[in-house]
Amino acid sequence: MKCTVCRGPAVIDLRRHNANFCGDHFLKFCRDQVERAVRHHDMLAPGDRVLVAVSGGKDSLALWDLLVELGYDAEGMTIGLGIGDYSEASTAAAVAFADDRGLKLRRVDLRDEYGYDIPTAAAVTRRVPCSSCGMSKRHLIDAAALEGGYDVVATGHNLDDEAAVLLGNVLHWQTEYMGRQAPVLPARDGFPRKVKPLVRLGERETAAYCVLRGIDYIVDECPMAEGNRHLRYKEALNSIEAASPGTKHAFYFEFLDKAADRFRPEVDDAQAGLQPCARCGSPTTAEVCAFCRLVERTAGAEPVPVELLRAGRGRGRRRSGR
Ligand code: SF4
Ligand code: ZN
Ligand code: ZN
Repeated sequence: MKCTVCRGPAVIDLRRHNANFCGDHFLKFCRDQVERAVRHHDMLAPGDRVLVAVSGGKDSLALWDLLVELGYDAEGMTIGLGIGDYSEASTAAAVAFADDRGLKLRRVDLRDEYGYDIPTAAAVTRRVPCSSCGMSKRHLIDAAALEGGYDVVATGHNLDDEAAVLLGNVLHWQTEYMGRQAPVLPARDGFPRKVKPLVRLGERETAAYCVLRGIDYIVDECPMAEGNRHLRYKEALNSIEAASPGTKHAFYFEFLDKAADRFRPEVDDAQAGLQPCARCGSPTTAEVCAFCRLVERTAGAEPVPVELLRAGRGRGRRRSGR
């Protein structure tokens, strides 16, 4: 297998681009794809202060590395979710990456600062862990970006993520979510601008990027992800992609070009009802926002170990690990 650009030995084949690349040309390909996404969707301006949401996984560390490589002023933020060994290893990977490169990493720990962790929140609310986890992460990163005076929040959502979310939204006709599924969300009252510069790269590519750049990322999936629908949608899309390379890209980008705007009015209607949370001032449709309500509900709750929560969930579900 030869590199499509230089004819040297290739290290990766990208069927949807009908190309193979050596290490150097693959790294260039990744930088080009990010630059292209940034330019096409008008994500970042020179001099922007960027806050990167960092989990310690391949996508967020590749994103941070790529943004720094491309010359952006990018700092990181990581949140201690309290999901046992997984969270400890994730935080350690983020800290090691930042320390090695002399980059600034903001750290927040849910248990230390807000008195709960994700397994306990899931047990108290009796909802899937990803529900309180996603909401907590969004709330804290938005708040940190506004307080810290950042121009924009960058997240590591890649093409596989976006296509899987779109498939889930289409399967359930969640049209308001479809209207919000853009690679750029503009700033609004109480919300920072948000961008997804990795939308042109798949997760196999972000993993390869990390390996070639010598980035140590946490390989294990979050143990709370077992059985979640998002992973099933990814598997379904992967089998279609294997038979028909390029389908994921077409599904997502054609949606953006041809359909996303049709659902904008629903988003605008939903946002018209927002008001500041009575406790923290964040935008919410209720008197008190979901984050403040979660902090109140979990106050004083006995911490729930991850193992206990997992034992009580879906015995016999498929493992999601690689
Ligand atoms: Fe949070 Fe769910 Fe992701 Fe785990 S899989 S980090 S619980 S959103
Ligand atoms: Zn080459
Ligand atoms: Zn609040």
